[in-house]
Amino acid sequence: MPHSLFDLAGRTALVTGSSRGLGYAIAEALAQAGARVVLNGVDAQRLAHSAEALRAKGHGVEVAAFDVTDEAAVSDAFARLDAAGLAIDILVNNAGIQLRKPLVELSLPEWDKVLRTNLTSAFLVGREAARRMIERKSGGKIINIGSLTSEAARATVAPYTAAKGGIKMLTRAMTAEWAEHGIQANAIGPGYMATEMNTALLQNPAFDGWVKSRTPARRWGRPDELAGTAIYLASSASDYVNGQILYVDGGMLAVL
Ligand code: NDP
Repeated sequence: MPHSLFDLAGRTALVTGSSRGLGYAIAEALAQAGARVVLNGVDAQRLAHSAEALRAKGHGVEVAAFDVTDEAAVSDAFARLDAAGLAIDILVNNAGIQLRKPLVELSLPEWDKVLRTNLTSAFLVGREAARRMIERKSGGKIINIGSLTSEAARATVAPYTAAKGGIKMLTRAMTAEWAEHGIQANAIGPGYMATEMNTALLQNPAFDGWVKSRTPARRWGRPDELAGTAIYLASSASDYVNGQILYVDGGMLAVL
C-alpha cells in the first residue's frame, strides 16, 4: 500500500511512447502507485501487446495509438479520450527518437524530425492536456522527459541536444503559464539507460566502457530506476515543485 502522499488511486495518466522502454517502465510505476494508465505509441500491435502485459499484472490500462508529432492526430486522440470519459490528470511527455550524424551531414528533414518528435510533441500533447486541466479546474501533473543533453552536448546528436535543451525550457514556460492553475510541470533527465534506443551503444565495447567509467555509479541505469522519481512528480508529494528538471543519472552530471 503506497504512502498516501504518493498514492495515485483515482488518477488517470497518459504516458506517450509507452509501448516499450522508459515510457513502459514509467507507465508500470504509475499503475503500481494506483493510477489508471493510457499507453501510447504508433505501432498499434506493439501497444496492444504491452497493454496486455500490464493488464496481466492486474493494472487498469487503456491504449491510445497516435503519432505525437501530428497535430490533428493528437487532437483527435484527446477527443476520443473525452468521449470515453478519460480525463488526463497526469501527462508524461516521453516519446522520443535518436539520430546520430555529424552536424555538417545532417539534412533539414532529419533535423525537423528529431525536433518534432522530441520537443514539438511535448507542446502539442501538453497543450491538449493543459487546456482540459484548466477547464476542469482540476490541476494536474505534466512530466517532460529530458536527458543529460538538456545540460551538456556530445558530438553527433545535435538535434537531440537542441530538443532536450528545449524540453528543459518548455517545462519552465509551462510553469510560467500553468502553475497558477494548479498544474505542476517538471522534467526528468535520465542518464544512460539500457533500452532499445541504446542497443547499438550497449553492444559497442568502447561506448559501454566509456559510460561505465564516466558515470560515478559505474553502470548503466535500468528503466525501472525512474519509477520513484516519476511517482514523486506525478503525486501530491510534489504539489509545490514547479519547473524543475530532476536528473536520474548515476551522478554523471555531477562530475567532470
Ligand atoms: P525507445 O526507443 O525504447 O522507445 C521509444 C518510444 O517512443 C516507443 O514507445 C515508440 O513507439 C515511441 N514513439 C516514437 N516516436 C513516436 C511518435 N511519433 N508518436 C508516438 N510514439 C512515438 O526509447 P527510450 O525508452 O530509450 O526513450 C524514451 C524517452 O526517454 C525519449 O524521450 C528519450 O529521448 C528519453 N531518454 C532516453 C534515455 C536512454 O538512455 N534510453 C536517456 C535520456 C532520455 P513505437 O513502439 O510505436 O515505435
